[in-house]
Amino acid sequence: MTAYSIAVFEGDGIGPEITAPTLDLLQRASAQAGSYDLSFTTVPAGAAHYAKTGESLPEASMQTARAADAILLSAMGLPDVRYPDGTEISPQIELRKALGLFAGVRPVTVRRGAPGPLTLPEGQEIDFVLIRESTEGLFFSQGAGEVSETEARETLRITRDISEKLFRFAFDLAATRKASGRGPGRVTCVDKANVFRAFAFFRSIFDEEATRHPELISDHAYVDATALWMVQKPWEFDVLVTENMFGDILSDLGAGLMGGLGLAPSADIGLEHAVFQPCHGSAPDIAGQGVANPFAMILSAAMMLEWLGTKHDNEEMRRDGDAMRVAVDQVVTEGQALTRDLGAPPPPKTRPPLSRRCSSHEYPAGRLRRRRIFRAVPLSKLVQAGARVSRGGL
Ligand code: ATP
Repeated sequence: MTAYSIAVFEGDGIGPEITAPTLDLLQRASAQAGSYDLSFTTVPAGAAHYAKTGESLPEASMQTARAADAILLSAMGLPDVRYPDGTEISPQIELRKALGLFAGVRPVTVRRGAPGPLTLPEGQEIDFVLIRESTEGLFFSQGAGEVSETEARETLRITRDISEKLFRFAFDLAATRKASGRGPGRVTCVDKANVFRAFAFFRSIFDEEATRHPELISDHAYVDATALWMVQKPWEFDVLVTENMFGDILSDLGAGLMGGLGLAPSADIGLEHAVFQPCHGSAPDIAGQGVANPFAMILSAAMMLEWLGTKHDNEEMRRDGDAMRVAVDQVVTEGQALTRDLGAPPPPKTRPPLSRRCSSHEYPAGRLRRRRIFRAVPLSKLVQAGARVSRGGL
């Protein structure tokens, strides 16, 4: 039995609401596992913490994150809490830079028969991964842009060092997917090399890496055409790799293909560390109402298990991560227990007291906030679905 420590940032807005059921699932998986044992340390950071203390990412939290085997981070930031220069509190961006998390991994999947905004041709499904470089690009000058009375400038930075690591990661991922029967082993470099020299440089480093992988297919696409094709023929993509700002925008388009941000997970991965968090923000407009969708967070936790399992060669962890992902796919496809953002009807105006709506089986000990999120997505359904598909069970 190997122990793994997970640093948990509960975040702002709906962050704690979606963290609670996710940790519950992970704890159940860990309790039943024969080969791994997860321990969780919750640490403060974010906009609410900044408003209280003047610190957005305390050094002690950073140290816990650095020492952990993986970092699970919920949504952070609140539109009304800002630094004096007007920018939002985003410790997740600081973490990416501090821990060298250059590869932002954003899977986009719509299974055959699953609901979504696009009508897919018969038999088609969407299954691609967008990799967003996450430490430089146009985010390089974040917080240090120059603004005068008459002009504003931000700097886009592409380095050989980060680009080489990024492309190696992308080709390795395509090879892993191909080996597991997911995708043809194609990597597409998404850029704007026809206009900017920085992107021609980016593309040339991609081409160098491509020559080291003759067994894989490599090609290029301009970012504007990619946006079009993501809507017209998303089933043709396998692994897309792009600059930070382009990736930021395309990953929301990817979330849209899946039916919304509530289903979009992500991982920011470096050579040593990795952070797993949903693509969406802290959704302050719905915080505290018990209607937030935890699936993006649960899918991010599934990616964490798969990453830890791959890193430490633990097949059981990989299998449990996969079971969690398939369980969510199944619940969404079958339309069971959906939240409002996925099309569930709004709750009736008059409702019986909570005590009569919650069975003690589904809602064990816990605060009201936890009970309400479980009502939106009954954990028992998810665990049952996971057990069915994993054969071993979560
Ligand atoms: P950020 O810039 O921090 O990524 P954002 O401005 O893009 O944040 P979000 O907080 O992601 O905004 O919210 C965008 C919309 O999506 C809001 O209407 C919000 O209620 C909804 N939303 C986001 N996440 C969820 C979720 N998990 N469940 C339900 N609705 C969500």
